[in-house]
Amino acid sequence: MKYIFVTGGVVSSLGKGVASASLGALLRARGYKVTAVKIDPYINIDAGTMRPYEHGECFVTASGAETDLDIGNYERFLDLDIPAGSNITTGQVYQEVIRKERAGDYLSQTVQVIPHVTDEIKRRVRAAGERAGAEIVLIEVGGTVGDIESLPFLEAIRQFKFDEGDENVLYLHLTLVPYLGTSNEFKTKPTQHSVAELRSVGISPDIVMVRSKEKLPPEITRKIAAFTSVRENRVFSSFDVSHVYEVPLALEEQGLGKTVEDILGLERIHPNLGVWQNAVKTIKQPAREVTIAIAGKYTAMPDAYLSLMESLTHAGIANDAKVNIQWVNAEDLADPSVTDADVRARLDGADGILVPGGFGIRGIEGKIRAAQYARESGTPYLGICLGMQIAVIEYARHKAGLDGANSAEFDEYAPHKVIDLMPEQLEVAGMGGTMRLGDWPMDLQAGTKIAELYGVPQGGTVRERHRHRFEVNPAYTQQLKDAGLVISGVTPGVEGRGAGLVETIEIPGHPYFVALQAHPEFKSRPMRPSPPFAGLIKAALDAQQA
Ligand code: GLN
Repeated sequence: MKYIFVTGGVVSSLGKGVASASLGALLRARGYKVTAVKIDPYINIDAGTMRPYEHGECFVTASGAETDLDIGNYERFLDLDIPAGSNITTGQVYQEVIRKERAGDYLSQTVQVIPHVTDEIKRRVRAAGERAGAEIVLIEVGGTVGDIESLPFLEAIRQFKFDEGDENVLYLHLTLVPYLGTSNEFKTKPTQHSVAELRSVGISPDIVMVRSKEKLPPEITRKIAAFTSVRENRVFSSFDVSHVYEVPLALEEQGLGKTVEDILGLERIHPNLGVWQNAVKTIKQPAREVTIAIAGKYTAMPDAYLSLMESLTHAGIANDAKVNIQWVNAEDLADPSVTDADVRARLDGADGILVPGGFGIRGIEGKIRAAQYARESGTPYLGICLGMQIAVIEYARHKAGLDGANSAEFDEYAPHKVIDLMPEQLEVAGMGGTMRLGDWPMDLQAGTKIAELYGVPQGGTVRERHRHRFEVNPAYTQQLKDAGLVISGVTPGVEGRGAGLVETIEIPGHPYFVALQAHPEFKSRPMRPSPPFAGLIKAALDAQQA
């Protein structure tokens, strides 16, 4: 197994995840079995308990792990499911070391950061690689070099070269070279300092990758090489491009793939980059354009909806269309002083409406109004998780005559709790990792739109990822059906829990009103769009023609 460690310097949010994932894509394009590990040095056990507004979305894996959004980048760029245990945090490492200490595994020893914590880190990295059956493991260390909390991780990765041998370990350091407009120059000093800082913990980068506004001129590359003692042909420029799917192409063009092959002693293989070339071509020269309104809560923080936006891009690629996103702050629609005409005016320009997943009461009434508008105006609608619950509440209130219908999440005393806590959640006390998570099967009913979208028109079972505590209350399904709502998919219940749970709904006669309890955005890939997203974009394009 070969290991590529990616560290970052100068500032955070440099796009280390995208840069590493792009390198992964170049290796995958050469046929290697690659997997990725993301190290997050915070003390939380996982990303499930953090605010999306600050950290971006919580990505859910097939195995049910609640992870950092970079795991989503890896799944998309590497086109594979990242196995459990691949998002390592300080919390997990210490929890395990302390557990072992209490169990007597270290009896008579003084338990210390070196070697006990570092050994646990190394064990986890190796286990993640083995679980994936990988030939090459990409490990991204979150945060920046110099952070107090990343020190034990840096020490562990330093030891890797010693343990595994020079030809099996590669260190790539990503920094920022700012451009000063006033003096018209690229500044390399922060990069010099950052590499020096990395060396001070015993790690010499094999490759320096630089984020910059534009491609670095040769003299700047030369300067970085001279000051960091990293050869010029091992200094790469990850400059701003119009779409992240261009990054693998831009890096390959500079020879990153070949350099990595040389350092790790791999034979030279010609990469197949067709997927990325094709994606970039459609993104840059789409035949059509379409606008989707997203009625959500975190509209000022697009990273909170990263997979969702990626899925819309993938669905656009499949339909040769550019997807413009119109952010609609659901709270703005919630205010009772906002009239129906105002709602119409806000959503009128959109070819489709999407209500994403979410938690908590903020903006709920606005989302309900967006769903109502979509249903009544015949505008294509896709509801995801909370977006399905919203659609059910709206339908219950306005079509099934269930006045005051709501979700128990927002109103425990609602006269009709059409969305209620799943029975299995009743005993749950803690918050971390306790929702219904990960891949669950859904039985799609023959003859429904959703079955057609998933390519099983005669009905069939598909799997999507989940992350929720509430469900459509079974006590109301008959009334909803009688009022015309189609329950197009349910949980088969073959795995014990959750038999018969409503998984998908649709409204017959509407051009496209589809909603799922699951989060299909987590499975969408550039080369394999998620069916309900592809369906939304197609319906939105059809609506334009009509
Ligand atoms: N808050 C809702 C629930 O827990 C929806 C969750 C979601 O959208 N991910 O069921």
